[in-house]
Amino acid sequence: MRKYVKPIAVVNSNLAEGVYAASGCYTATASIHQTPDGGGQGTYRIQVNGKHDADHTKEAQTLTITFNQSVTYESSNGTLASAATGTTLVINYTYHQNPQDNIGLGDLVVTSGAGLVINDVKISD
Ligand SMILES: [Zn+2]
Repeated sequence: MRKYVKPIAVVNSNLAEGVYAASGCYTATASIHQTPDGGGQGTYRIQVNGKHDADHTKEAQTLTITFNQSVTYESSNGTLASAATGTTLVINYTYHQNPQDNIGLGDLVVTSGAGLVINDVKISD
């Protein structure tokens, strides 16, 4: 059995706001790489990556991402599985991954007000 590792999160305060967390068989990273023009309400683009470290192959993953404030989901490469508006979004992906794989889940696009920060990100399978 794998030892449970408590997720850790490190949030940077610069423009490349990002969060890193390891839990289960993934290390997940998410960073905001585009913020709204003018700094008000608008579109944020978030790059999500995962690193799989396990002994199994899977065809499906679930991303859970939590923010400091409410967001509205706009688009991703996956399928939204939670409410479209809230502080937590759950998105299902169908990426074919090997036991040891780096997976790029592409951009998650949301709208929110100024000051959006990613508080936590997790990928599970
Ligand atoms: Zn796995």
